[in-house]
Amino acid sequence: MKLTLWTYEGPPHIGAMRIATAMEGVHYVLHAPQGDTYADLLFTMIERMNKRPPVTYTTFQARDLGGDTAELFKDAARSAYARFKPDLLMVGASCTAELIQDDPGGLAAALQLSVPVLPLELPAYQKKENWGAAETFYQMVRLLGKDYVLSPGEKRKPRPAGLPPSCNILGPTALGFRHRDDLVEIRKLLRQIGVRVNVVAPLGAKPEDISRLHEADFNVVLYPEVANSAAQWLSKNFGQPSTKTIPIGFNATRAFIEEVCTLAQIHCDIDELTKRSRARWYALSVDSTYLTNKRVFIFGDATHAIAAAKVASQEMGFQVVGLGTYSRELAREVREAASQYGIEALITDDYLEVEQRITELQPELILGSQMERHIAKRLKIPCAVISAPIHVQDFPARYSPQMGFEGANVLFDTWVHPLMMGLEEHLIGMFREDFEFHDGAAPSHLGHGHQRTPANEANVASEPTPVPEVAVANGAPVTESVWEPEAQKELNKIPFFVRGKAKRNTERFAIERGLSTISLETLYDAKAHFGR
Ligand code: SF4
Repeated sequence: MKLTLWTYEGPPHIGAMRIATAMEGVHYVLHAPQGDTYADLLFTMIERMNKRPPVTYTTFQARDLGGDTAELFKDAARSAYARFKPDLLMVGASCTAELIQDDPGGLAAALQLSVPVLPLELPAYQKKENWGAAETFYQMVRLLGKDYVLSPGEKRKPRPAGLPPSCNILGPTALGFRHRDDLVEIRKLLRQIGVRVNVVAPLGAKPEDISRLHEADFNVVLYPEVANSAAQWLSKNFGQPSTKTIPIGFNATRAFIEEVCTLAQIHCDIDELTKRSRARWYALSVDSTYLTNKRVFIFGDATHAIAAAKVASQEMGFQVVGLGTYSRELAREVREAASQYGIEALITDDYLEVEQRITELQPELILGSQMERHIAKRLKIPCAVISAPIHVQDFPARYSPQMGFEGANVLFDTWVHPLMMGLEEHLIGMFREDFEFHDGAAPSHLGHGHQRTPANEANVASEPTPVPEVAVANGAPVTESVWEPEAQKELNKIPFFVRGKAKRNTERFAIERGLSTISLETLYDAKAHFGR
């Protein structure tokens, strides 16, 4: 096993906690040593929940290992049942407790409690958090749905006439990246389309809601990492189809509406639903188009990484130079997506490998998780967060979805603004020698007379006047550099009000180095030189 400072995913029992914490009327008894109660902080500190997760830890200590830890578990389960009176009890072990092999499922069954007990066997040394969440949700859906399973050959009853089509929304959990707000957005969209929501699960659901999942006509799977296996079981046993499109971005939201309308067998006016979206128009605006072809590196869970790559390339006009995921279960999907951009996917859960790839690629923007935010900070590259793992600032007090049309607006803002800041810094670099923009300049609204203090006047006066060095190429001094078409095209993307300055600076840079032509590389080198 390799020791690491940070990790993309926690152990699988954290995934189980995300399900229990998202729901109402569920309690989780976790056989775990004292230190494992740290997991509570993920929800109370990072997600800022105003209640503790519904988890009772056995909190055994080293000295207990010589005694009867199984009895310890039974006592904890008994008292949690009496105190919290749940409608469903989940039982399992954390990584460390797995090693003492006490069998929480068998021990809880022996207690003969009068509520359903969901025993969880989550192999902590082979699987991770998202798998743990998916497995927990799937096992719960099976346990509470098994009494309604159709017999072999039995068909679903048709929906009674006059009832609107209905769906379940599957996947949102506690500690999910913007799940709370995505849900609001998707509910709104479904309401506009005319589809009734039967159950949302696990977020906000009670065990009795889980047993009603079979009543819906189809399932909307928002987060495949969590909901795919449950949706497949529902499809097999109740003939419920599921959506495949993840509504992240303007185009994908449109495609999602089409898919929902097909599953619900209704007609809807997509153009009417899309007309209030701002993201698409903003992406066409002048100050966005000069960001075209920005080189972007994307990493996260598979769902968000694939969706981000599509939005970045199709809607923002960026160039996807790197794409990867830590979700090994969905590696095939990410590899397929990467091949569309002519690149090889990076599948790893080692953040140092991700850092290495970013360093090699030198992108202009990183879309990633909390881990990539740290990497971006070290490498001084603009960054926006698109996926878990996330930190406290990714649970904003305001409404900030990633999905639906409002989600597309949020993506535009959060991805484009770090680049604008980059541009501003670059402009400051370009203008450093300008009388209005040098380091000692006062704000322009004070007028030019206020620009220099006596101190910086003296500094400026004592600086020698730079004499441009003209390099010599092939024996003859270069006095003029010709722009290559590609470089000229890139130059034209710079806003008109600074283009002249950028052009002059680049030409001077090229002449000083004896370059008779200005390539794309020369332009970038000049930008880096003047931006120092
Ligand atoms: S042993 Fe497992 S639960 Fe305990 S701290 Fe390590 S990863 Fe977390």
